[in-house]
Amino acid sequence: MARTGVGSVTLIDPEDFAEENVGRHILTSDSVGKPKVEELARHAARINPDCRVTAIKEKFDVTLLASRPDLVVSTADSFQAASLVNAYALHEKIPAVFGGVWGEASVAEIVYVIPGKTPCYECYGGFRRNVEIPHDTRRYTDPNYDETRIPGQAGLWANILMVAGLQFQVILGLVGLRDTLKYSGNVWLMNISDPDCPFQPLALTVAEVKKGCAVCDHSCLEELLQENLGDDENSDLSQFDPGNNVLLNDEQMRKGPEISAEGK
Ligand SMILES: [Zn+2]
Repeated sequence: MARTGVGSVTLIDPEDFAEENVGRHILTSDSVGKPKVEELARHAARINPDCRVTAIKEKFDVTLLASRPDLVVSTADSFQAASLVNAYALHEKIPAVFGGVWGEASVAEIVYVIPGKTPCYECYGGFRRNVEIPHDTRRYTDPNYDETRIPGQAGLWANILMVAGLQFQVILGLVGLRDTLKYSGNVWLMNISDPDCPFQPLALTVAEVKKGCAVCDHSCLEELLQENLGDDENSDLSQFDPGNNVLLNDEQMRKGPEISAEGK
């Protein structure tokens, strides 16, 4: 972005740059132990001194932003963080682009949201709210294992560059510099290095998502409530938070009473 001439960027991230980041990040070993946002701000300033970079070492929170940006870019590999950015973008009517990966960055997944025009991030990824992320068994055997860190993989950096490059093509489209968003569908997928993925390798697969989730479409929320609450006249729609009302499937419904009976 600094190389493209973007005038002002705010970086938000709570972490320090760690040793395991070196293999998959533009920063170098000089930055280990220092805040990612501050190190990246210095890097951007060396590329383009005219690009004003604000570094905020915090988890994303809408109150951190001093002014309304023209575009929001989510690069967090976390559904919760992306969901917050999505809600913020919809509320402020700002376009947003979400970059993510499947597996060890073997498939790129880019979702962009233009409030009022496209489906939102939750329309596409809402199912992830209820999906438990499988745990690596090393967490039980290796005392130093940290499951928040993606294990090292030779060549991962090249995959990350491709994901970031693809996400940037969408950004160029959203800011009007290139005609990249002419395909119908706001989800871009690319099989970079997964031999078992059904998508053609190294080709763009554009997916269309059905618009209408409880976050971006109020009528959908009402429908959901009707299904679950029936005709209870005491139900107050304005108090409903879809994030706190996880719908259980049949299997989970069956498991529920069993667990409580065993006193776990
Ligand atoms: Zn939605």
